Amino acid sequence: MPSTNRAKWLQSLLRTNPDHFCRNPIIVGREKGTMTDTHQVHCDCGAVEVTMTGDPKVHAFCHCEDCRDLLQVPYHSVLAWEADQVTVTKGESDVKTFQHPSKRMTRVFCGNCGEVLYNTNAMGWKLVSQILVLKTNGYALPESYKPNGHFFYDRRIVDIDDALPKR
Ligand SMILES: [Zn+2]
Ligand SMILES: [Zn+2]
Repeated sequence: MPSTNRAKWLQSLLRTNPDHFCRNPIIVGREKGTMTDTHQVHCDCGAVEVTMTGDPKVHAFCHCEDCRDLLQVPYHSVLAWEADQVTVTKGESDVKTFQHPSKRMTRVFCGNCGEVLYNTNAMGWKLVSQILVLKTNGYALPESYKPNGHFFYDRRIVDIDDALPKR
């Protein structure tokens, strides 16, 4: 099939069944028998489950003041995806979204137990904490989720003594 026809065919599939295909052609069929790599997190009470599809575009630690302000953490263990790669797959009615009063950021959390499931940034990305993945997946991180650096390290409030690149 010529590549332009193939692109049209893929587009038509996406239109008719948006859940059928991964949006990122690079990871289609990457794992044996599955279209994409998916992982789940859930809140402490278990009411809400969130599914992440494909590899995160950022998997690092963020030392910026926005993350600190939004989440009250010294630095954020960021796993960031495009919005359509992170979906609530259980407990939609328990999900609450808080829009930060001055920043283009939100906290999305369980209205029952208060656990933040992800936050969003000004680009509309959905950011899941590595810590949440760890505690809901037997303290193991998938390979593509492992942190590869520290971002905005010059804005830090704590020094980090590890071998990861700092920028
Ligand atoms: Zn909960
Ligand atoms: Zn940040």
